Amino acid sequence: MPVAAGSRGNPYDVIIVGAGATGGWAAMRLGAAGMNVLLLEAGPNRPRASPLRARVDSILQSYVQPFLPGRKQREAKLRELARRQPIQSLCYAWAGDPAAFVDDLDNPYVATGEPFHWFRARQVGGRLAVRYHGRRFMRFTDHDLRAATREGGLDWPVSEAELSPHYAHVERRVGWWPREDNAAERWLKRVLARAWPGRGTVPISKVCPPDLIALALRTGRVTLQSGAIVSHLELDPGSNEVNAVALIDAATHARREVFGRRVFMCASTVETTRVLLNSCSARYPDGIGNASGVLGRHFMEQVHVYAQLRIPAGQRDTWLPPLPIDLFVPSLCETTAHAKGARFGVQVMSGRVFATRDLQVCLSSFGEMLPRPENRVTLSATQKDRWGLPVAEIHYRLCDSEKQLIRDQRRFLTSLGAADLAVEIEGPDKPLGYAIHEVGTARMGADPGTSFLDPYNRSWEVKNLFVTDGASFVTSGYRNPTLTMLALTERACAHLLESSRSHAEARPTAVAKPVRAPAVVEP
Ligand SMILES: Cc1cc2nc3c(=O)[nH]c(=O)nc-3n(C[C@H](O)[C@H](O)[C@H](O)COP(=O)(O)OP(=O)(O)OC[C@H]3O[C@@H](n4cnc5c(N)ncnc54)[C@H](O)[C@@H]3O)c2cc1C
Repeated sequence: MPVAAGSRGNPYDVIIVGAGATGGWAAMRLGAAGMNVLLLEAGPNRPRASPLRARVDSILQSYVQPFLPGRKQREAKLRELARRQPIQSLCYAWAGDPAAFVDDLDNPYVATGEPFHWFRARQVGGRLAVRYHGRRFMRFTDHDLRAATREGGLDWPVSEAELSPHYAHVERRVGWWPREDNAAERWLKRVLARAWPGRGTVPISKVCPPDLIALALRTGRVTLQSGAIVSHLELDPGSNEVNAVALIDAATHARREVFGRRVFMCASTVETTRVLLNSCSARYPDGIGNASGVLGRHFMEQVHVYAQLRIPAGQRDTWLPPLPIDLFVPSLCETTAHAKGARFGVQVMSGRVFATRDLQVCLSSFGEMLPRPENRVTLSATQKDRWGLPVAEIHYRLCDSEKQLIRDQRRFLTSLGAADLAVEIEGPDKPLGYAIHEVGTARMGADPGTSFLDPYNRSWEVKNLFVTDGASFVTSGYRNPTLTMLALTERACAHLLESSRSHAEARPTAVAKPVRAPAVVEP
């Protein structure tokens, strides 16, 4: 009788925890290379709109729906849903797709220090599959990766040049291409240049990422199990490797274990850390692989300031074509000789011409946070989620330089006023979390004494454990982080495949496994 896949006698080659952006990429990449992969996802496998359909829906929702009958009923329904999602409903994208987000009452967390709004999707596809995702993908530069050289602390163990081929690979796959400014953007750039001389402005290319999970399943090597909440990892004390992944059925609360030769943690920064901290053993009482004590520490987000710029029709010297506006104003230290200085970038987007022909533009500024060990994620000693798992506690305090960074961003945005532009900061300051760019807590590094992961995202201590989501970040940068998460995942997979290949070549008896049909296991 054949031994069931995922049992102790027939382990998967790789178990991936979390079917979001990074988990989807890892499953696609490792499945295509012939590995038998089990992809575990806590949330449901909801039907997904095609990128085109999602785009049309977004336009309809912004411009048409407010004028359709039934608005009051729609608003009442949202108010009802928001009772179970008091945090998630504060996210700009929530109203367009509430079911993509977690139920806050079932999935509580604690924020000590600064208030923190933690926006989470719990579904196959993760946050990347949220209908109104920003879809802005940007590369980190050496300015981001060498932040410690400027400010002190730990540098990334990888350079822009080393990441470059992996960025290129991901960009090709997700359909990212550089583009020229359009006519509306060229006009706005001239206006902004008057207020912000010397700041370069580049166009942002938005992407419509393909459905990574569908691509992974198409390899015939990947089994997707939705409704599977991973509670912890089991360590085999003999080999000092993970040998089992413990999970809870989201619907029945039944517990079981699955077995794999390697584990990729891709559950998103805080959730990944929560699982790792909850995986305790005699050897690692403070979380699996946590010999250095850095697991959970150096948590970061990006400080975010948001403003609206309104340019009345009378102030425009020209007719403006109704084209979308998506520009990026990088930090001064990247466009001038300033080595130091406030590191923030402004995204200028979604130009909207009103009936009055006024132009309204959103200015979204993101500032870099630097790692401090006291900003950390731990497990609550008292509070549990609906499945009996200890909830995450997020401890964050803004330091003086971060408070200054918020003031610098506000001052920079309001400086548009000096050029006779009407800008209104959305305030008071939003709590942390609004950038939705949380990173850190299991950082990579060149030294096992100060980092959790080696330079290829593998645990220094537990050699078959990989973390490739934002938890592995060393600093936050001030650009959108998902492209870098995907590039790191791609690089970790390529390195794993390369080393497994050399290993297999050293053992000539290795036989290729037959391709199986795609498998989706519903709870
Ligand atoms: C509205 C919105 C707009 C955004 N816009 C941008 C943007 O323009 N550019 C950008 O770079 N970033 C953007 N982001 C952030 C981006 O989506 C995230 O950085 C990215 O999705 C993180 O990828 P991930 O794989 O780490 O986590 P996710 O994509 O969040 O996926 C993690 C998955 O793991 C699952 N999971 C969690 N815990 C467990 C467990 N215990 N067991 C099993 N499964 C588990 C979750 O259910 C989830 O499906 C945006 C986010 C949101 C919400």
